[in-house]
Amino acid sequence: MAVLASVGAGYLVVEAMEEREVATAAVDLRFNALVVISHTRSLEDHDAQGQLELSAAVDHLEGDHNEALHGVNGTELTGAQELIDKVAGHGRMVLTDIDHLKEASHEPDEAVFEELLNLLGRRAEEATADASAAEQQVTFALALAVLAGALAGWLTLRASYRSASDRAVEQTRLRAGERFERLLEDSSDVFILVDRDGRIAYRSSSAGSFVEPSISTLSELLDTVADPGDRDALAEHLDCARPGRRQEQCILKRLDGQRGSYEILVSDLTSDEIVDGHLVTIRDVTQEERLRQDLVAQASTDPLTGLANRRALPAILEGTATEMSLLGTVVALVSLDLDGFKDINDTLGHQAGDDVLVQVTSRLRLATRPTDILLRVGGDEFVVVVAGLNNGQEGHRVAERYLTVLDEPFTVGDHSETLRVSVGVSATDDPDRVPDLVAEADMAMYHAKRHGGSQVSVFAPDMELEATATSRITRALRSADFDQEFSLVYQPIVSVDGQRIIGFESLLRWNSPQLGMVSPGEFIPVSERSGDICDIGSWVIEHVCRQVHEWEQAGLDPNLTVSMNVSPRQLANDAFVPRLLSTIGHWGLAAGRLVIEVTESTVLDSTGVAAQRLQELRGAGLKISIDDFGSGYSNLGQLLRVPFDIIKIDRSLLLTLSEMRELNGGDPADPCAIMGAIVSIAGVFSAPVVCEGVETDEQRQSLEASGITHVQGYLTGRPAPPEDTAALLAVSGLFRPMRSTSERPRPAALVDRA
Ligand code: C2E
Ligand code: CA
Ligand code: CA
Repeated sequence: MAVLASVGAGYLVVEAMEEREVATAAVDLRFNALVVISHTRSLEDHDAQGQLELSAAVDHLEGDHNEALHGVNGTELTGAQELIDKVAGHGRMVLTDIDHLKEASHEPDEAVFEELLNLLGRRAEEATADASAAEQQVTFALALAVLAGALAGWLTLRASYRSASDRAVEQTRLRAGERFERLLEDSSDVFILVDRDGRIAYRSSSAGSFVEPSISTLSELLDTVADPGDRDALAEHLDCARPGRRQEQCILKRLDGQRGSYEILVSDLTSDEIVDGHLVTIRDVTQEERLRQDLVAQASTDPLTGLANRRALPAILEGTATEMSLLGTVVALVSLDLDGFKDINDTLGHQAGDDVLVQVTSRLRLATRPTDILLRVGGDEFVVVVAGLNNGQEGHRVAERYLTVLDEPFTVGDHSETLRVSVGVSATDDPDRVPDLVAEADMAMYHAKRHGGSQVSVFAPDMELEATATSRITRALRSADFDQEFSLVYQPIVSVDGQRIIGFESLLRWNSPQLGMVSPGEFIPVSERSGDICDIGSWVIEHVCRQVHEWEQAGLDPNLTVSMNVSPRQLANDAFVPRLLSTIGHWGLAAGRLVIEVTESTVLDSTGVAAQRLQELRGAGLKISIDDFGSGYSNLGQLLRVPFDIIKIDRSLLLTLSEMRELNGGDPADPCAIMGAIVSIAGVFSAPVVCEGVETDEQRQSLEASGITHVQGYLTGRPAPPEDTAALLAVSGLFRPMRSTSERPRPAALVDRA
C-alpha cells in the first residue's frame, strides 16, 4: 500500500494507508491528537482489525482529543472544519486517512475536495498572518499547510490515475502543485529535499537563513550549520542511506552567526516516485526549548517558599563540584529537619503548617551567606549547600548558625511555638564525593534526632553502620510475626525501703529470626520513624491487658499497678484512646490498674494534642507517668501545664548526680538536693516520684534520704518474664490466696538491709 506522507512542524498527514497502519503510526509517533477523515460511511465500514486498531490508537492517545469523521461529502464539510479546529487546540499532530476516498466505489465529489483544500489553505494563511498568535497556532497553520499540501498531493496522484489527456484534471494538478509550493515557501520551517546522491534538489526560501546559495550538497551544509563537535552525530542523523523517519533536536548555527535549538526531521520519501529523495525539515524550536527550560525551572522550585526543591539538588551539586575542583575549596551539606512538624499540620491545619514553613524559610535565609544555596527538599526538610569553605569545621559552624536562627519561638495562629530542629552536616574537599554528602548529612541529621533533636551532628563513618542497622531493623520489623517474635517482661517498681512492690513496668522484648535479640532501645526509635510503632503498641496493649486479666484471675492485689510505655506516634493517632479503652473494657480491667508512661518530650509537644489525649485517659481513670524525667531538656514550667500522676526520674540523672557527689568527695548515701527539689515540685501535685536504674544500695539510701518514694532498678528486681513475675507476686503475697491474711507468709524484703 502506497504511503504518501507530508511531514512538517510536528504534524503528519497521511493518505492511502490502511486503518491499522494509521493506528500504528499514530501510536509509534506518539501523536497527541488524531483526526481521521474518512470517506467510509461509518466506523463499522472499516474492517474488523482496522476498527480494533483505530480504537486502540484513539484510546492510547489522550482519548478526548481524538476524533474520527466518516462520510465526508458536500454536506459535511463544516463538520470537517469544526473537527480540525477542535483538535488543533489540543494536538500537535493531525493525521488523516483518506484512503477510502480513492476507491472508485466511493468516488468523492472533486468540488468537495477543492473546497476542503481552499478551507485549509485559508485557515493556514489566517493563522500565519497573526504574528502575535501563540506558537501553537503557528504550528497549526503549518499543519494546515501541510494538510492542504497532502490533499493537493493526493489530488495529483489521483489525477495521474486518470487519463493524461483529461485537461481539467491536469489544471487541478498544476494548481494544487503551485499551491503546495506556495505553502512551503510561506512556512517558517526550512524544507530541504536531498536526492539519493546527497545533493540538495530543492530548498524552500526559508532555507536562506541556513544555506548559502553556493552550497549544493548536504555535506557542505553540515560544515556550515553544525559546530565541529556535533557534526559527526548530525551527519549520522541525516545520513540518507538510513531508511525510515527520524527526528532529533540539536543546536544549529545560522548564516547570521546566531545559534538556536532546532528540530530536524528526516523523512525517507524515496519510495515516492515523484519526490524520490529525503525531505529534511528544520524547525526553529528555540522558543519552545526556552519554554521547556522554564517549565523545568518551575518543576524544580517549591511554590510555597520559592526555594529550589529536591529535583534541583543534583544540578546544584554538580555545579558545586565543578567550582570546588577549580578553586580547591571545601563544601558542606547541611540537612535540617523540623521535629514534630507533622503535629502542627495535623492539629492546627495545613495553613498553620504552611505559615510555619514560610517563617522557617525567612529565618534560614537570614543565616544564608550569598554563596549558600538553600533548598526545601521535603515537607519539613531543608538542605543548605555551603560552598567555598576552607575546612570542615567551618561547615559545622555554619550548621550551628542555622540551628540558632530557628531557636526562637515561631508564631502559630495567636500563640508562639518552639520548634525542635535536628541538624546534620557533612563536608568534603573531594569533588567526586559531593553527591555522597546528601546521604551523609541525612544520616547525621537522624543521629541528631535520635539523640533528642535540637542539636547539630557531624557525619561520622560509624553512622553509616548505624544507618545500615536501621534499615536492617526496619526490614526485619516489616516481616516480623509479632506473636512469635515479641514477648513482654515485667520489672517491679518498689517502695524506696525495698519492702513493698507497688507495681510493674512492662517492657517489650524482640527475638528476631534474622537479627537475634534486638533491644527496644534500638528498635523502638526505628519503629517510631517508620510508623510501625502503632501496630507494635497495639500488640503491647492487648498482651499487657490479657496478662493482667490472667493475674487478676489468680487474685492479683487490686492496688498493684502495671505500666505500659507509649510513644508519641501512638498518642498522635486519633484511634488510640478509644482503642485502648475498648481493650481495657474487653479484658474487664479497672482503668486505675494501668499506668501510661510517656516521655517528657511527648507531653511537651507543640500542639497540645498529646496533653489532651492524656487528659482523656486520666478522665477515664488511667494514671499518667512522666518517664525519663531529667534526661535531655526538661522544662518544669511547661510540665506544670500537663496532666500527670507520677514522675519517673531517668537513670542518667541519677548517674550524673552520683558522679558529681563522688567528685566532690561526698558520701554516696547522702541526700541529694536536686532530687529533693524534684520531690518538692511533685509534692505540689501529690505525685509520687519513682527513680529508675537504681543499682546500688547507696543510691537507694540517698534517694530515700532525699524523699523519693519509689525505686525501680536491678537492685530491687530485673525485668523478668511473666512466669517469674507471677512467682515473685506469689512469694510477695500479692496474689490473694484463699487463705486468711493472718496465715499469709510475710514477704521477704526485696532489699536485704541487714
Ligand atoms: P524505659 O521506659 O526508660 O525503660 C527502662 C529501661 O531501663 C529498660 O530498658 C530497663 O530494662 C532498663 N533498666 C531498668 N533498671 C535498670 C538498671 O538498674 N540499670 C540499667 N542499666 N538499666 C535498667 P529496656 O527494656 O531496654 O527498654 C528501653 C526503652 O525502650 C524503654 O526505656 C522504653 O523507652 C522503650 N520501651 C520498652 N518497651 C516498650 C514498649 O512496650 N513500648 C514503647 N513505646 N517503648 C518501650
Ligand atoms: Ca518507661
Ligand atoms: Ca525511663
